[in-house]
Formats: sequence, structure tokens, C-alpha cells
Amino acid sequence: MSGDPTHMTPDEFRQNGYRMVDWVADYLDHVGEMPVLSSVEPGAIAAKLPASAPEEPEPFDDLLRDLDEVVMPGITHWQSPNWFAYFPANSSPPSVLAELASAGLGVQGMLWSTSPAATEIETRVLDWLVDLMGLPESWKSTGPGGGVIQMSASDATHTALVVARHQNRHRGPAEDMVVYVSNQAHSSIEKGCTVAGIGHCRKIDVDSEFAMDVDALRTAVEADRAAGLIPISVVSAIGTTGTTACDPIDAVADVVEEYGMWHHVDAAYAGTAMICEEFRPLQEGVARADSYTFNPHKWMMVNFDCNVLWVADRAPLIDTLSILPPYLKNEASEAGAVIDYRDWHVPLGRRFRALKLWWVIRSYGASGIRSMVRRHVELADDLAARIEDDRRFELFAPHPFGLVCFTRVDGHDATRSLGDAINQSGRAAVTVSEIDGVAFIRVSIGQTTTTSAHVDALWTLIDDLS
Ligand code: PLP
Repeated sequence: MSGDPTHMTPDEFRQNGYRMVDWVADYLDHVGEMPVLSSVEPGAIAAKLPASAPEEPEPFDDLLRDLDEVVMPGITHWQSPNWFAYFPANSSPPSVLAELASAGLGVQGMLWSTSPAATEIETRVLDWLVDLMGLPESWKSTGPGGGVIQMSASDATHTALVVARHQNRHRGPAEDMVVYVSNQAHSSIEKGCTVAGIGHCRKIDVDSEFAMDVDALRTAVEADRAAGLIPISVVSAIGTTGTTACDPIDAVADVVEEYGMWHHVDAAYAGTAMICEEFRPLQEGVARADSYTFNPHKWMMVNFDCNVLWVADRAPLIDTLSILPPYLKNEASEAGAVIDYRDWHVPLGRRFRALKLWWVIRSYGASGIRSMVRRHVELADDLAARIEDDRRFELFAPHPFGLVCFTRVDGHDATRSLGDAINQSGRAAVTVSEIDGVAFIRVSIGQTTTTSAHVDALWTLIDDLS
């Protein structure tokens, strides 16, 4: 780095920027060769940092050096094509570049007037997605509904629950309110209830395929009403975290409507698949939902963070969250001519996340995203077929999307040991989970660059270690 080391001139920024882009390009080129999981001990990275902040400025060269020396040993490689753990958090070069542009612009899109492009691009792109994912036309900004980008599905679900609570505030205290989920629902829903002060998060039994048992739901609602409690919402899942089970949205909607509740749909991972028509039967009845969330930051090649929440009717959402202090008053908002997304979620400030969603959809086209989804699902089907044909293993659950869950037939401990051995090999990462005391291995195929060669290599590893 040349020049005054106390700051980065535009020219130095340009040079360092080129080096940084090279660094990221090299990383993405070689990430498939790196051990997938970081193997550092707790505290090992912190120990490489001084105990106090530097008093004097440091040159960018030192920062770049420490990216390799300090940071990289402690990185778990979510972008590796050998990443099969949790769900994907996949990404893509256009998304990374959009993040750079967004950081350079550094806008705060809390109000339309604080950066009209940030708001209008977000609105238009989320309207596009309504069409692309076969969602109801009325959820577009041109109808009564609308979409908003949030940080995470947890935020979106929390927001939906706060709206449900607000809608029911005249019926009694929040401590007496009840939200229903299947016992396979993501922990974010229970957390959302806690944060919203909702008294009860009732976990409903599931059927043999881990989808919500609607008769059990109805029985629970009746029992709670009889006990003087206030059922306010059901959160259905399309693609549970454990096994990607899909709750029967249409049948749940019957119960929701009968008892006047708010129906929120959590499609955090599987929502992306809805861009392919063949998966849409799994969300049949979705037009009857009040809100719906999915994460482009899981499986749509948009890097973390980028979540979408749609509401069928934006009025209750805005009614719940809009508070207008004098310093935020402005002509455009007062004329009602614009969307102010600050009224659509908990935080005031908001990043220009729509840029990366826009760039990804434009760069790949809907057809490119569809073929990525289909490729991953085909790879998952192939792997599932191999597992089914092998007497050492058993499929644990249906595999409608890119997740394959299996066990070793020789028991819980053998399954756990196999999962641990895969992870310790450094050649792939999987997740070992458990339902009702039965351990199973989750292989989640969804990394942008994963091909059949990577899944073949995983299968060879599973074979060798079994
Ligand atoms: N819902 C489901 C079904 C999930 O699988 C996850 C995360 O894996 C979440 C919600 C939480 O997502 P986020 O990390 O965006 O809050």
C-alpha cells in the first residue's frame, strides 16, 4: 500500500479492491479443495488477536495477510461444493458483487425518500417472485398484499406473530394467546412467541411423514378454547428443518379459518423450489395463507442475508408496526404515494438487499434458477436411490427436495459414528440429527457448484467409512 497509511485514497481503494476481488475469486476457485469444516479449538482465533485495539493505523497489506493467516483457519466452508450440512447458504458471483455495490452506496433504505431506488427495486422484484413462485396475484404490491425483505426467516416469523398478537389484542392478554406449530417446526417460531410475549407455543403431533396432524391440531385448538385460552395463529411449514416435511396447508387453512386465526407459512428453505411448477402441489392451499416467508439466502444463490416475507393484506402489518416520529415525516410518505419499508419490519434502518436479489435473478434468469433447483433435486434423488439399494442403510424420511435423510440399519450409534467420521474426514460436511431418539444423517444438496462428481465422492466416502 502506498501513500498515507492513515487512510485509503480512492486510488488505493481501487488497487486494494482489485486485489480483494482476486482473493475472493481464488477462494471460490479453490474452496472445493479445502477441508470443509474448520478444526480450530475454541479460543484459537481470538488468541491470534491482540487484547486491545491498535492505537496506530495498519496498512491494508496486513489486513489481507491476516485474512489468510488468522481468519481462514477458522472458516467453515459453506461455499464448498462438498457442503451437505444443515441447509445450503448458497451464493453466486453476481450476488457478491451486488453486496460490494450496496456497501459502496451505503444507503439506508428505511423510507422511500431515503433512497427511492432501494424501495422501488425491492417492491418490483418481490412482485416478480410472486409470479415466479406461483403465489397469489393479490400478494403483489398492486393488490392488497405485498412483500418485504428482512434479515432472516426468524425475523419474518416473529413479525407475523406480532401482527397476529396485535390483531387479537382486544380478546385478552398475550400470555393467554396460543400459537400452533408441528413438533417438527423450526425453533424460530417458539423464539418468536417468546420475543412477542405470546404465552403458549403448542407443538402438534405429526404423521408418519413428519407433517402436521390436522386432527390433532383441531383437538388442541378446541382444548385451549375450552380452557379459556386464545388461539391466534398456526405456523405451517413447507420443508421442515429436520426432514423437509410439508404440512398440509389446505387442511390447516380449514382449521385456521374456522377459528379465525392468522396462518403463517414458513417455507424458509423449500420456497425456492416453488420456482419450478412441479413442486407447487406441496404448497397447495397457499392462497389461503395470511403470510409466507422464504429465504433466497438459503437456496437461491443470494448470499446471506436475504429473507422475504409476503402478507396477503399489508394493512394489519402496517397498522401494527407504524409509528411516526416527527423527524421521519416527509411529503412523499404523507401523500401515501410510496412504500416506507420501515413500517414492514422491526428495525428502522435497512440495507439495500434487493440489489443482490435483482442481480441474481437477472444474471441467471428464472430458467437458470429452475435448472439449479432441478439439478440439486435430481442429485438428491440419485443419492436416495443408492441408499435405498444398499442393505447397510435405510432412508429415514421422504425426500421431496434436495435433502436426503438416512440411517445405518445397525443402529443409532453406528449412524452417529458414520456422520462424525464423514465430518472428521474434511472431505464433506453433513449434519447428524435426531427425531424421537433416532439418529439420522442429513445430506443437504444445494451448494451452487455441487455436481454429480461431488455427490459421487460423498457416496464413496460413505461407502468407505461404513
Ligand atoms: N425455518 C426453517 C424451516 C428453517 O429451516 C430455518 C433455518 O434453517 C429457519 C426457519 C430460520 O432461518 P433464518 O436463519 O433465516 O432465521
